[in-house]
Amino acid sequence: MSSVSSHLCRAAVFTATDRPLELREFDVPDPQAGEAVVRVECCTVCGSDLHTITGKREEPTPTILGHEILGRVESVGEPPLNDLTGEPLSPGARITWSVAVSCGECDRCQSGFPQKCRSLVKYGHSLAIGPHALSGGFAEKILLRAGTAAIKVDESLPAEVICPVNCATATIAAAYRVGGETTGQNVLIFGAGMLGLTAAAWANSAKARSVTVCDQNSTRLEQAKRFGANRTILWQDDREAFQTQLLQETDVEGFDLILELSGAPAAISAAAQLTTIGSRIVLVGSVMPVGDVGFDPEQIVRRWLSIHGVHNYTPSDLATAVRFLEAHQADYPWLDIVETEFSLDEINDAVRDAIERRPIRMAVKPQPGAYA
Ligand SMILES: [Zn+2]
Ligand SMILES: [Zn+2]
Repeated sequence: MSSVSSHLCRAAVFTATDRPLELREFDVPDPQAGEAVVRVECCTVCGSDLHTITGKREEPTPTILGHEILGRVESVGEPPLNDLTGEPLSPGARITWSVAVSCGECDRCQSGFPQKCRSLVKYGHSLAIGPHALSGGFAEKILLRAGTAAIKVDESLPAEVICPVNCATATIAAAYRVGGETTGQNVLIFGAGMLGLTAAAWANSAKARSVTVCDQNSTRLEQAKRFGANRTILWQDDREAFQTQLLQETDVEGFDLILELSGAPAAISAAAQLTTIGSRIVLVGSVMPVGDVGFDPEQIVRRWLSIHGVHNYTPSDLATAVRFLEAHQADYPWLDIVETEFSLDEINDAVRDAIERRPIRMAVKPQPGAYA
């Protein structure tokens, strides 16, 4: 079933924890200055969507979830929304865009942290009410706000490959930007989900000396090997035994760059022990409060360690991420990550399947076949 009229479109609305998403009709607004209406080609289901649905994360309701979106511009305001290079977007352009829209004017935007803007709005995380109600990807159409960091996507890139770019890939781009040199370095990655697989591919492509991935799930570790990890290690709770095994098997004194993507407190304190002189630790996975995590600050001082936190990313990280996937789409099995595909009518089946099986990603294509 498609839209009943060109002025109406359908979207799946989240109203409360553990309730099915409701397919509702919305008026498609005329885009105002700097805005664009985009027809959703594909939206992948992210772990954070599932966290909202299952109540692990709070969102204002009603909300249209889904933020890993690829779409085609349908109409633009006057003046139109520009892409990241400053070029005006016109109908037909195939684009993705930053999850967060920032004002560009507040002190944080002005000091290089637009991702922490004081009036940040996030797609897939906003109230589905008022003129900007169409703000999530589990929908036939979405209204992009003025100031959205949009970027054109090559027609050759499959939708499933590009969708996670504005979430996992751009976050990994930010992590490597603050983490510093990767080429020739021993890189250790905790977590082999979407972030970890992307991080492994990134380090491998950047010619890291070694890429080691650690996770609790052996199936995911097998997958990490196909994404450029040359060593994988199963997490074990006996930390000392784990550290000894890891350093022995990898034959390194310590890792130069450690990306902590799992959010597990034990992995964070292990990270500090697995360093060498001048190592950098980038923390990405800790997006929920876990309390204090123990490590001896003497290690940080004597080893000249740096610890960085990364949350969200800048528009230029998104551009770097899109270029990375364009350049390396054939080098790793990206398509295998997205196991199944659902239409918008099947959105609740998609959610159920995602919660039960926890695949890394699945795709929702509102109008299957429309882009074939
Ligand atoms: Zn996401
Ligand atoms: Zn701002």
